[in-house]
Amino acid sequence: MAKSGMKSRPEAVKHSGGEVVKKTIRKVAKKAEVGVTVTTSPQMRNKPGKMVYYFGKLKTEGDGTMKVLLGGKGANLAEMTSIGLPVPPGFTITTETCGAYYKAGQRLPHGLMNEVHKNIAHLEKETGKKFGDNTNPLLVSVRSGAQVSMPGMMNTILNLGLTDASVTGLANATGNSRFAYDAYRRLIDMFGDVVMNIDHKHFEEALAKVKAKHGARMDTDLPSEGMIEVCEEYKKVYQKFKGEVFPQNPFKQLELAIEAVFKSWMGDKAVSYRRIENIRGLAGTAVNVQCMVFGNMGNDSGTGVAFTRNNATGENHFYGEFLVNAQGEDVVAGIRTPLPVDDMPKWNKKVYQQLLEIKTKLEKHYKDMQDIEFTIEKGTLFMLQTRTGKRNGMSAVRIACDMARERLIDEKTAILRIPAGDITQLLLPMFEASAKKKAEVLTRGIPASPGAAVGKIAFDAHEAVERARKGEKVILLRHETSPEDVEGMHAAAGILTSTGGRTSHAAVVACGWGKCCVVGAGELHIDEAKGKVTVKGQTFGRDDVLSIDGFTGEVMVGTVSRKEPDKISGDFLQVMKWADKYRKLGIRTNADTPEDAQRARDFGAEGIGLCRTEHMFFEGERIKAMREMILSETKEARVKALDKLLPFQRDDFIGIFKAMKGLPVTIRLIDPPLHEFLPHTDEAQAEMAKAMGIPVAKVAQRVTQLHEANPMLGHRGCRLCVTYPEILEMQVKAIVEATIDCLRSNIKALPEIMIPLVGTKRELQVLREEVEATIAKVKETEDYKPRLDIKVGTMIEIPRAAVTANEIAESADFFSFGTNDLTQMTFGYSRDDIGTFLPDYLRRELLPADPFQTLDQSGVGALVDMAVKKGRAVKPDLKVGICGEHGGDPKSVEFCHRVGMDYVSCSPYRVPIARLAAAQAVLREMK
Ligand code: PEP
Ligand code: MG
Repeated sequence: MAKSGMKSRPEAVKHSGGEVVKKTIRKVAKKAEVGVTVTTSPQMRNKPGKMVYYFGKLKTEGDGTMKVLLGGKGANLAEMTSIGLPVPPGFTITTETCGAYYKAGQRLPHGLMNEVHKNIAHLEKETGKKFGDNTNPLLVSVRSGAQVSMPGMMNTILNLGLTDASVTGLANATGNSRFAYDAYRRLIDMFGDVVMNIDHKHFEEALAKVKAKHGARMDTDLPSEGMIEVCEEYKKVYQKFKGEVFPQNPFKQLELAIEAVFKSWMGDKAVSYRRIENIRGLAGTAVNVQCMVFGNMGNDSGTGVAFTRNNATGENHFYGEFLVNAQGEDVVAGIRTPLPVDDMPKWNKKVYQQLLEIKTKLEKHYKDMQDIEFTIEKGTLFMLQTRTGKRNGMSAVRIACDMARERLIDEKTAILRIPAGDITQLLLPMFEASAKKKAEVLTRGIPASPGAAVGKIAFDAHEAVERARKGEKVILLRHETSPEDVEGMHAAAGILTSTGGRTSHAAVVACGWGKCCVVGAGELHIDEAKGKVTVKGQTFGRDDVLSIDGFTGEVMVGTVSRKEPDKISGDFLQVMKWADKYRKLGIRTNADTPEDAQRARDFGAEGIGLCRTEHMFFEGERIKAMREMILSETKEARVKALDKLLPFQRDDFIGIFKAMKGLPVTIRLIDPPLHEFLPHTDEAQAEMAKAMGIPVAKVAQRVTQLHEANPMLGHRGCRLCVTYPEILEMQVKAIVEATIDCLRSNIKALPEIMIPLVGTKRELQVLREEVEATIAKVKETEDYKPRLDIKVGTMIEIPRAAVTANEIAESADFFSFGTNDLTQMTFGYSRDDIGTFLPDYLRRELLPADPFQTLDQSGVGALVDMAVKKGRAVKPDLKVGICGEHGGDPKSVEFCHRVGMDYVSCSPYRVPIARLAAAQAVLREMK
């Protein structure tokens, strides 16, 4: 994500830049009677403009377009208010204020609390209640809300404004003393925990003590006096750990809560989430202060979370969960298993109808699937949030297609709606129906995110991360899904919980990642400390394997085999057709077996952009011949060994040509250093020597000879063919013989020969001549008269090649950017070792992303751009593509489109991503 500095953000310019900033500063300066100017005071430079935006009947200052400044939640609260939905009034402190808080060394910006006071006064006027009042107190919630939604990753404080005085006011106003003290104890607990870092367990212990005294089993069994005692005990806990009394000034509570939300922006959970989701460049979180409404005022109250369409499947069906007599956090935190909203009419038909009307209104307004939170207080519905609903690849495709059919959006919008990187989720394996029939279904949960995951059980997030790092596939098994587990959830193959619903935070997060997730499997009894889970009398531990089905919620014992998904069909096919209509880039694939080539064709590949021939030298007899060649001391001996390889290569090429049915196939000559074909352990060397009937010392000696300090910069690529032209000859011979063979059997074959790792024009010139001479020789030997149109080109993967692309283009029919090596050599980062330091670079934001995954546009990309221009300046019809891993990365594909490449080439499963990303590039450009 691009850094959004103030200048590049339209909202910031509109709402806090220029004259507005100056006016506000002038006002503040006047009030403080100090002569500050905009440019000279560092403190004032850090101070944002208008810091607080009100929403309510009195006035609404923000709107839905202001997400950068007000965060998603704040902008949408303002928008919902404007379109007449029942939203409790409140105000939003801007994200820039959070940025200013950090710039000032974690100090609230000067003047912020003044603005907060003024807005509380507006709220008092609008509601007729008073903050901290002992007759009719105003209570507020304080919630985070960044520009990009980060479910559950930051702090929330409810019932704020309750004090010893106002709690009696609330009791009187509601006529419900138990409710008032329950709200007060929740505040002390939440405030103590999230604002003051007092461990929640101390409050739990105090609660247990009072419950024991009253013989209460559940919290709900406690009478009103019990709740009053709990409040007293909680205040004691607070005082013991903080050395001061629980704040009795509601404004003090509010100030500390605002600061706690700002602080949670840099909390571990939030930082990890942003890293995993690659969310960068945001100023901070906004803070939403909103009048409390209560879902826990009795059996006519409740709270819920819903999606306007099913977020897991995309089905157009209002879908969600609610809890009667509960506060909102109970649903999203996954503590209690809620009821499906489909059951709501049995409880309150009117509210359900009202929600359905709101669903339609929201979708018509936002033209997208929404994720909403609502509360019903004594039968009256209030909307607390709407945001674009997170979805997986499967539901994204269905929703986009359905909405286009419903004419809510047009086809271009539908294409842009689907995150290109997510559609591979539609190509994920599923459990085989026959294997599932035989499998032992242990229990069932709620299918929260589709997929088929198999792994050993991990009982906590840390363990999941560690074991996954060692290459193990694990299922993360938890009582409930918690945002703390975000790292472990990401590392696990799948997630399984015993409580919680589909809309619990973590289920929503997993669903957004397309990670298989089953929640609320209530028959699982988990003993985390012992690393055991018991289900219906059977016990399982860390070494046991479970298979979980995210489509059905089934939990099965052992490994259930999976099958590849069906070919592209239905809505997915529709999206691909739309994409093909708009995209300009060709899409090829990197494949070196007929099976991969066929799969890629099924996914829509229009050719092979990179066939790595060395992969063909490893199997069975081939590796023996390869090693014989490497150990040979004379050219004659090498040619003899290569002659054994030739038929294998030729047959491989025939297989690939057949699969590609006349589409172009770019075949790259040998690339890796020769030592990669030899064994390196004593044992393996002895085995090889025995198989070849030669002394082991000879093998060891050749391995030593081939050792290089920097093999990636060593004797590889075209350098091998310079030293051993017979390798080039054998490979080209195999290509041409395969071509002629196919053509003679009426199978179209269109090979392109690609020379890797070229750095100078002479390298390509000389090797091209050898390629052409070999082609001519084979034609003669084969007595093949028709013209053979075999293009000869090169990879551009060395910075020097990019810089001298005009010279190199003279001998090239095409360029293919090998951005793996080009990235390696431009940055000087070893592509095999970057893992040792990349996490630190990402964490400290020294790099915006892994440059081997997403092309570094300003550095490596500048070289690519330059090479395209220089190459085409010499040869206007030079064909240009990319075959590094970046060819399947949506952002990099967009870049390739921009610099005018002819095609991108990527692994077969990424072909649909590239097709969609290429269309999106065109549509974004049009915008
Ligand atoms: C590249 O360097 O980008 C490339 C495609 O070649 P390889 O990954 O085989 O080195
Ligand atoms: Mg390379």
